[in-house]
Amino acid sequence: MKDEHISRLGQVLVVCAPSGTGKSTLIDMLRKEFPDFGFSVSYTTRAPRGQEQDGREYNFVSRDAFVAMRSRGEFCEWAEVHGNFYGTATKPVERMLGEGRDVLFDIDVQGAKQLKKTFYKGTFVFLLPPSRAELVRRLTGRGTDSEESIARRLENAAGEMAQAEFFDNWVVNDDLDTAYEELRAVYLAGRCKPSLRPGILDSILQTWRTDG
Ligand code: ADP
Ligand code: 5GP
Repeated sequence: MKDEHISRLGQVLVVCAPSGTGKSTLIDMLRKEFPDFGFSVSYTTRAPRGQEQDGREYNFVSRDAFVAMRSRGEFCEWAEVHGNFYGTATKPVERMLGEGRDVLFDIDVQGAKQLKKTFYKGTFVFLLPPSRAELVRRLTGRGTDSEESIARRLENAAGEMAQAEFFDNWVVNDDLDTAYEELRAVYLAGRCKPSLRPGILDSILQTWRTDG
């Protein structure tokens, strides 16, 4: 019996981190190694940045359109981050999970807490920077943020880390390769949860009745 012939439900994998920790870097590595990952493309009211394309990184919508979707109950979570709205539409996520695809969420801590109410069996990972000084180095080195924006992100980081206890997996992103190995291990371990393999035990036990 080949494993791929056994039905599997998709895993919800939520990754959060203070800005500058390396979340985008690690998520890119994961999506490169596992190209079948479903990615939850969020809705946002912020303007596209750089090479971002509508429908790829985000669905870019007006504030009015966002509020209308929210009042129709189309989001399983939403939050205001740095003055803009961000939200996850429920339908595409449920469709991908129903197809047995794992779905990766790049959302903030407020969103992760809401998502846990719907997808309480999901895997929730918090990435930590090794120190404040290293976080400053990364935010500065990235070269995308003003001094003021870096100061705001550092202040937010302390607040987000105060909520780290909410997450059942912590990965410290000190050495990048080590952090990736840990994130990958958490993801693969999550695939082994019995709740994602309904019927598997029965179908194996059935062979005791038929093969004997
Ligand atoms: P985030 O998405 O969490 O805001 P990024 O992935 O953009 O963070 O990373 C911030 C900066 O830190 C980038 O310049 C990235 O190349 C760098 N970086 C990421 N991980 C590490 C690491 N383990 N060691 C050193 N630099 C890193
Ligand atoms: P950025 O504007 O830099 O792409 O994202 C800012 C923050 O918003 C990041 O922490 C990102 O993870 C978070 N974010 C992106 N999409 C969503 C979403 O749909 N919901 C929530 N709650 N946060 C999101």
